[in-house]
Amino acid sequence: MSATHDVVVIGAGLSGLVAARELAGKGLDVVVLEARSRPGGRTHTTAVGGVTVDLGGEWVDDAHGEMKRLVAELGLGLVPAARRKEESLWSIGGRTTGEMPLSDRDRAVYRRMHEALGEAADGVDPEAPWKGAPGDHDPSVEAWLRADGMSEGGLHAVETLLSTCGSTVPLARMSFYSYAVKVATRGGPGKGNEYRVEGGAGRVAEGLAEGLGERVRYSSPVVGLRQDGGVEVRYGVADALRTLRAGRAVLALPFTLYGGIRFDPPLPPPLRELASGECYGVVRKMAFVYDGPVEAPALAVTDTPLGYLWTVRGPGGETGVVSFAGGRPLEAELRLPGEERERRAVALLRGMFGLPEPGTVTEAAWSEDAWSRGSYFIAGPGDAVRLGAAGRSFGLLHLAGRRPWRRRRAS
Ligand SMILES: Cc1cc2nc3c(=O)[nH]c(=O)nc-3n(C[C@H](O)[C@H](O)[C@H](O)COP(=O)(O)OP(=O)(O)OC[C@H]3O[C@@H](n4cnc5c(N)ncnc54)[C@H](O)[C@@H]3O)c2cc1C
Repeated sequence: MSATHDVVVIGAGLSGLVAARELAGKGLDVVVLEARSRPGGRTHTTAVGGVTVDLGGEWVDDAHGEMKRLVAELGLGLVPAARRKEESLWSIGGRTTGEMPLSDRDRAVYRRMHEALGEAADGVDPEAPWKGAPGDHDPSVEAWLRADGMSEGGLHAVETLLSTCGSTVPLARMSFYSYAVKVATRGGPGKGNEYRVEGGAGRVAEGLAEGLGERVRYSSPVVGLRQDGGVEVRYGVADALRTLRAGRAVLALPFTLYGGIRFDPPLPPPLRELASGECYGVVRKMAFVYDGPVEAPALAVTDTPLGYLWTVRGPGGETGVVSFAGGRPLEAELRLPGEERERRAVALLRGMFGLPEPGTVTEAAWSEDAWSRGSYFIAGPGDAVRLGAAGRSFGLLHLAGRRPWRRRRAS
């Protein structure tokens, strides 16, 4: 027998939970179907060897107005980031430097790229960011840098910062316009990562899920969506298939997982093409917790499979190191078995910073995770136009999410 609801939300990540909360707040009968046994999706806070670590999304940008408001509404706090990105130590090609290793000429290209990004970001409409995507001329970030004369060494340093330690999609697959949209959401060039959530970003999802109570059903992966004047939803529970009906459905899962759902009628071509997953990179976070305080740089940008590294505090001081890495160095690494990856990671930390054997190591390789299969959406050249064409609804199916930032005031 199938129950009927006003709206079914697919995915209990932050976007699905926020959508469900708003709909329930308007008095609608909402149910959220979530494949995992926990809320939060690509945010997940856990304790590793007594240290609280965010294994997924972590940093909140000053420009993330919606997130800041949500954190306050849930009675949570934001903690300012202890160190700024500009204070990072750089380890590129085995050489350690105190600043981004660029020749004067490459530095000038890099500066021009930021100016061009800032200009493009100012032109992005927060209400419809993808509508303004240039159709015929949207180079990749790498093509833009090459056309402006950046050297191979310079490209490697920029790739390390922007891809390995940031967007996770190689610069050759990242559209310049899409990057400008990302810059706009972060409040402008060089902005972002100003805060983290006290106690971890996972607490935001937990707070939202708690408020929704039994409306959220876990371990319930959706496998079919049929539009027939309403929406018939097929989902699995403990190896059995169930059905429920709703007036409308909100899709709040990554494009990479659309392929696991049978859509009837099929998705329109722009959405189907985005679902190929090319626009998501690979990403992994690792946490290393030591028996006592460690002497490691507070922030380090490296071109190794450990990417961006920072120290974290536990009860006994700076006893943890967290690594975030994506893009090219990680693509090769993820072909190795788990124990080999851990061994290599520990050896890298010993080689770069002389760190001892850690007491506990945890790895979260999101691109291998069945319910994310990638990092996050960064449009490739041409994808931005597809997203604009896809819009936000397809019949009775709606894409979750809305503008996360406000337009910067012209200075
Ligand atoms: C390692 C990492 C670091 C990051 N760092 C930051 C950061 O510092 N700052 C920042 O702003 N962002 C960061 N992000 C991005 C941020 O975490 C995501 O953009 C955000 O969490 C996505 O939320 P979402 O609800 O859209 O998707 P998700 O969190 O992926 O939620 C989708 C949900 O749908 C569920 N699902 C999937 N398929 C089905 C199905 N068939 N049926 C039912 N449920 C399904 C999934 O299990 C999941 O719970 C990071 C992401 C990663 C992976």
